[in-house]
Amino acid sequence: MNFVFEPPHQASVAVADSEDRLPVRRIFCVGRNYAAHAREMGKDPDRDPPFFFTKPADAVVDSGETVPYPPETGNFHFEAELIAVIGTGGRDIPQADALAHVWGYAVGNDLTRRDLQLAAREQGRPWDWGKAFDRSAVIGPVHPVADVGHPAKGSIRLSVNGETKQDADLADLIWSVPEIVSIISHSIELRPGDLIMTGTPAGVGPLVEGDLCRVEIAGLGAIETPIGPRAKR
Ligand code: MN
Repeated sequence: MNFVFEPPHQASVAVADSEDRLPVRRIFCVGRNYAAHAREMGKDPDRDPPFFFTKPADAVVDSGETVPYPPETGNFHFEAELIAVIGTGGRDIPQADALAHVWGYAVGNDLTRRDLQLAAREQGRPWDWGKAFDRSAVIGPVHPVADVGHPAKGSIRLSVNGETKQDADLADLIWSVPEIVSIISHSIELRPGDLIMTGTPAGVGPLVEGDLCRVEIAGLGAIETPIGPRAKR
C-alpha cells in the first residue's frame, strides 16, 4: 500500500531530561477553569460542567522556538496553563482511577487570537479560528509522574519581557485534573498521547512582535517563547 502523498510527520513534544520525544495524538483544552479568569472574560465562575475545545496535534511548539505573530489578528494573547499528558487510554474512567492514566505534566501556553475567539463566541460560532491555528500550543518538556507526582498546588506564573502578567496557584483550578480526565473520557475515548490544557488563570493579555513570553510552574520549570514578525504569506 502506498500513500498518494507523504503522510504528515508525527507531532511530538519534548520529554524532560531525555532525548526521547512524546508523540502527540490530540489536544483537549478546558475553557474558563479559574474563577478570576472566568470573571475577566465576562462570565460567571459557577461550577457548571466544564466545556472543551481542541487544537490540532501539529499546533505544538517547543519551548525556545520563535512563534511568528499570527495572521488575521490584532489581539494575540498568552494563556499560562498546566498540561496533563495521557499515557494510558480509556473510556468512562472513574475519577478515583483517573490519575493512573496520566503519564506526566508540562508547562504550556495556549496562544489565542482573542479578537477572533470573542467574535465567534458572540455569534455562537466555533472557536477554532481563535484557538486552533498554526503554532498555537507551546508545550514544554513533559515531566514523568514518576519524577514529579501529580501537581495539585503550587505557583503558576507568566511574564512578558520580565513583567509579571499572571500569578496564581494550581490549587485555584475549578475542575481538577482527575475530574477533567474522567469527564472527557465519558464523551471521548482517551488515547496515549492526548494532551489536556487545563485552563488559564486571570491576567491574560496581548503579545506583540519582539516580546519574550515566559511561563513557570513550581516543580515543572519554565518555558520561553519569543514572538517574531508576522509571517509573510
Ligand atoms: Mn486556555
